Amino acid sequence: MITSVRGFKDIYGKEAKIWKKLENIIREVFSTWGFEEVRLPILEKTELFQRSIGDTTDIVEKEMYTFIDKGNESVTMRPEGTASVIRFINEHKLYTLEKNLKLYYLGPMFRYERPQKGRLRQFHQAGVEFLGDLTPYAEFEVLSLMDCLLEKVGIKDRILYINNLGCPDCRKTYRNSLLKYLENNQDLCEDCNRRKITNPLRILDCKQEKCKEIIKSAPKILDFICVDCKKHMTKLKELLTLNNISYEIDPFIVRGLDYYIKTVFEVHAKGLGSQSAILAGGRYDNLSKDLGGYDLPAVGWAMGLERVVLLLDETFVEDDSLDFFFIYFDDRGEKIILPLINNLRKKGVKVSYDPSKSSLKSKLRKADKLKSKYVVILGDNEINNGTFTLKNMEKGEQFALPLDKLENLEKEI
Ligand SMILES: [Zn+2]
Ligand SMILES: [Zn+2]
Repeated sequence: MITSVRGFKDIYGKEAKIWKKLENIIREVFSTWGFEEVRLPILEKTELFQRSIGDTTDIVEKEMYTFIDKGNESVTMRPEGTASVIRFINEHKLYTLEKNLKLYYLGPMFRYERPQKGRLRQFHQAGVEFLGDLTPYAEFEVLSLMDCLLEKVGIKDRILYINNLGCPDCRKTYRNSLLKYLENNQDLCEDCNRRKITNPLRILDCKQEKCKEIIKSAPKILDFICVDCKKHMTKLKELLTLNNISYEIDPFIVRGLDYYIKTVFEVHAKGLGSQSAILAGGRYDNLSKDLGGYDLPAVGWAMGLERVVLLLDETFVEDDSLDFFFIYFDDRGEKIILPLINNLRKKGVKVSYDPSKSSLKSKLRKADKLKSKYVVILGDNEINNGTFTLKNMEKGEQFALPLDKLENLEKEI
């Protein structure tokens, strides 16, 4: 038997209903906030991610699904959405100075990681990008959107962590001080020893226990940021407080991507164990320029849908029971019932029926299994009397009604 690929999952049944409702809420809230959808391709040129996410990041070094296609081009299944959004804006020349761009995407991403709870190799993200605004109001916009969305989804136990990574100017000073601190440290993991030369800030993000221990007493970026970066952060904190969005400062958030500057943030939810980050993002003013495009300041975040789904149970989705189940036994019944069913479905009423020759008892059992609220019975007796039987399954009561009431059956309940 052929099974699915490791880290790739089928979603069906109750879980699929949860996904559908979650995606509906996401789309609704995004569009209320003025974000427009962009449907991006799954496959991009490998170079896009090498140059945006960064050559020395874990994603690019270890986790990408990269292959040479039949035209001998190196292509990659997107590991995230932001790089594609920037590529898209520049390719279609969509930016004008007069107007901010507010875009969102929703769909599968791919990373070759060790599969575990809440982490798959094909996973799904919903993300927003707010482009064209250098001020902290851009961060505020996407963070208050986040707050509204998670509230609507019902993720109450959550914390927003914020950090400021500084601009390229102040980061240089920090980088030197961090290297000085690490200079005399022989205990870093192999990766981090390499990172000292390639990308020291990555060390702050290392998952190895011994590195984490060393990092704990390392100099903090927040002590090194310049006046402008400090002002930026103070204003953002003010805006969040003014709008009752609670947050905590966490100097250890660096995010696994190279393109962030100034603000970075993560939202963690209780009840997910060690993989508790459900949403993360930050500011990436230089990404577009670095990719040869517009000088386009930007802030964005992405939410991991698998982890959000882990926090939801079936009470999240409405009961999907039937409104009516129809029972009949012969051609006379069928001629009345089938056109009626068609009409009801067109009106959005949920109905089903059983055209088989089985008994009343077994058809009632089927109606019960499908959790139908009402059953309509049209047997010989009923047709001869010009009536039908309407049975309320919950109460167990039933009435005989004249056949012409079938016309507007949904009004009888
Ligand atoms: Zn700065
Ligand atoms: Zn390390």
